[in-house]
Amino acid sequence: MARIKPQSGILDIAPYQGGQSQIAGRSDVVKLSSNENPFGPSERARAAFAATAAALHLYPSTDHAALRAAIGEVHGVDPARVICGAGSDEVIAFLCNAYAGPGDEVIHTEHGFAMYRISALAAGATPVEVPERDRTVDVDAILAACTDRTRLVFVANPANPTGTMISAEDTARLADGLPDQALLVLDGAYAECVEGFDGGAAVVEGRENVVMTRTFSKIYGLGGLRIGWGYGPAEVIDVLNRVRGPFNLSRAQLDTAEAAVRDVAYTEKCCAENARLRDWLVVELNAAGVPTDPSFANFVLPRFRDRAEAEACDDFLKSEGLIVRRVAGYKLPDALRISVGDEAACRRVIEAITRFREAADARAV
Ligand SMILES: *Cc1c(COP(=O)(O)O)cnc(C)c1O
Repeated sequence: MARIKPQSGILDIAPYQGGQSQIAGRSDVVKLSSNENPFGPSERARAAFAATAAALHLYPSTDHAALRAAIGEVHGVDPARVICGAGSDEVIAFLCNAYAGPGDEVIHTEHGFAMYRISALAAGATPVEVPERDRTVDVDAILAACTDRTRLVFVANPANPTGTMISAEDTARLADGLPDQALLVLDGAYAECVEGFDGGAAVVEGRENVVMTRTFSKIYGLGGLRIGWGYGPAEVIDVLNRVRGPFNLSRAQLDTAEAAVRDVAYTEKCCAENARLRDWLVVELNAAGVPTDPSFANFVLPRFRDRAEAEACDDFLKSEGLIVRRVAGYKLPDALRISVGDEAACRRVIEAITRFREAADARAV
């Protein structure tokens, strides 16, 4: 086998670790490790999914026209410049495969989402990590890191796992300051969580170098079905469609996503509940002495005294049936990422962390 080797870069990929979902021997487990919508998908999305069972023998649409039209109507974007993928992960992979290869650089930030690096390496390109400032994307640091080999720059806004955001002005400044050959990708996986935010659609308009990605996995409650989309200049979308497989989305994915995006009232209800509980979590964590930045997403990122305390708290939460996410792999070893659950789950989290902290403080006396 020694002579059969993968492309260079592939063995540098550390496989993506998904959020844990079970604790042996416990039935009251709440999973708060993958930023899923605790209320699940809308009734209309569930009904659309069920209806597709009768058509499993039929190939799905190759151009996704009905879903793109629905996305265009609801999000106010041009459906001709929308591309749909199996999660936004697939759109990220299309971008890397189409625009970055050996010798090319793909910029991501210090605490940036893992798939940027993974997809860049899979395409044979070189990932370049840029520092953040206080857990926030630093536009000047990104611009300073650009070279004549930079082909893609990935920024999630709001970001995961930090939950922070950069302003519309900074986003535009980043787009306009990039070298000519570089494409900016604004990952809007959590855009719905920010009231009135378009995810970067306005930055895409009128520019040739910006793509926005979006997902049905988070606030739409469809992470299990794998649907995402991208929006960009016509030339870029044409390129991405050439690397996209013709049947990359099943009828179940297409029809369910269409019903979900059209159920605006349900999405708004989920966003409002998320914002209410998220902001409550931040206040309560800070009150418990665990510093936590304001979050613009559907998770919070409490910071502990050190890595040992974060891991001890994670173990304690597990013993209480609460699964959260360690983020040492995101260069945040002293933090834990906790998705916003329903109200009962949020209360359990605060109650448990408060007890954990009181016990730690009592031991320290
Ligand atoms: C969850 C997430 C995604 C979405 O991934 P899907 O493939 O659409 O499920 C994309 N970007 C970020 C930053 C995320 O946190």
